[in-house]
Amino acid sequence: MRWFNNRSIKAKLILLFTAISAIVLAIACTAFIAYEVADYRATIRREAVTLARMLADSSNAAIAFDDARAAGETLSTLRAESRVEMGCLYGKRDRLIAGYNSPDSAEPCPLAPERADVRFTSRHLLVTTPVSIGEEQMGRVFLRMSLDEAYRRLAKSIVTGVGVLVAAAACAMLLGWYLQRLISRPILELTAVAARVSEGNDYGVRAAKTANDEIGDLIERFNGMMDQIQFRDRELQRAQDELESRVEERTHALQDEIAERRRIQSDLEAAKEAAEQSNRAKSAFLANMSHELRTPLNAVIGYSEMLREDAEDRADETAVNDLKKIEKAGRHLLSLINDVLDLSKIEAGRVELHIEPVPVDSLIRDVTATVEPLAKRNGNRLVVHSGYQGLVQLDALKFRQSLLNLLSNACKFTENGTVEIEVERRPEQDREWVEWRVRDTGIGIAPEDMRKLFHSFSQVDSSATRRFGGTGLGLAISQRLCQMMGGHITVKSEPGQGSEFTIRMPA
Ligand code: ADP
Repeated sequence: MRWFNNRSIKAKLILLFTAISAIVLAIACTAFIAYEVADYRATIRREAVTLARMLADSSNAAIAFDDARAAGETLSTLRAESRVEMGCLYGKRDRLIAGYNSPDSAEPCPLAPERADVRFTSRHLLVTTPVSIGEEQMGRVFLRMSLDEAYRRLAKSIVTGVGVLVAAAACAMLLGWYLQRLISRPILELTAVAARVSEGNDYGVRAAKTANDEIGDLIERFNGMMDQIQFRDRELQRAQDELESRVEERTHALQDEIAERRRIQSDLEAAKEAAEQSNRAKSAFLANMSHELRTPLNAVIGYSEMLREDAEDRADETAVNDLKKIEKAGRHLLSLINDVLDLSKIEAGRVELHIEPVPVDSLIRDVTATVEPLAKRNGNRLVVHSGYQGLVQLDALKFRQSLLNLLSNACKFTENGTVEIEVERRPEQDREWVEWRVRDTGIGIAPEDMRKLFHSFSQVDSSATRRFGGTGLGLAISQRLCQMMGGHITVKSEPGQGSEFTIRMPA
């Protein structure tokens, strides 16, 4: 079946035509031959019985008188029937009276058969008939007829039948080959159209309908399907074109946007460069200015000192007071100029670091000695807790400046309180840090002022400034110096309770 399924429609149709005709013919031939055989058997049987009866009728006198010669003559008439191979006449008590053999047979008569009978063997027909006169049975006639002719006729019929079968199958095949085109051609044409569609993506082709049968129906539906596909293909193409043009539009828009952004970026870079340039120029100007201002200012302070000492010698109280004010204002101005100079140097990138190992205790001793008088002036107690005594890697001068700024602020903004300094080493995030905490019990800082603390020139409370003095630059400078050394400053504070500034430096 699988073999058959894999054949082409053309081959299948031819095969079907041929097979059906061959099967039909084979059945017909078989039936015909069977009929022939049966008919021949009936005919030969009838003829043999008639012949035997005729023999019995014509030989009853010879049997009655036991006349072998007359019996022989009667039997000799059998010569006319070529199918009779043997004829025998039996008298009373089954005694053989005469026998006959055809020229091809020389067999003796068999013992008398017991009863009247007609019987077929594989090669012969055997007939036994009683010979009677009136009601009395005198003897028997036995005939053996050959069936060779029957076999010859059967063989001839079979050969003829097979010949007819082969010829008919060949005709059926030819006819099938011719007729199959009526069915297969439209299917093959449809297949070719489908192949053109799938190979060339040409949805415009259509198959031609040649008949109004199922194949015609199939072709019609195929063409309908092609109409739909063609319509959808066009729609798809249109959508794709639209999409492509939209993508192109968007790409152009994006390119324009990118170009615009690049332009803005380069404008920004240019503006940044200009700003940096002007910042550097400002810092350079401030540095130069500060330097130029310090020289005459030192002269003003020096001369006001000298004049104050002279006035003190003369005990001129009014002049001493005025000169003290000049000196104080001069010193304030000098510290302001120094701070401005420091900040300008940092911003202009002119500060150089000299990192070296510094012992913590000597650093603390140094700054507390400097701050002690300041603390005392406001009635503060200075307390040192040093939990770490080792070395730290930093620029001693710049770190000292930062720490001093925190301590002097603490002393400045605390009255009759405590100023503590604490040093501790602590590991965090795979690194070792040294924390320097400066705590006071002073006026504290309001939460909203905290974020302004480290900005240059920012003093959180102008009334406090008037009271305590200062420039608003100290914390900004300290923060930047610490950042340059890899650390930073943080702050915690409660207004009225005090503040805690922490410098965190890598150990
Ligand atoms: P200034 O030279 O004015 O002290 P700073 O930058 O050192 O400048 O400080 C900025 C401001 O931060 C100060 O004016 C003060 O208002 C506030 N401040 C700093 N340290 C303290 C502190 N320990 N307690 C309270 N306020 C402080």
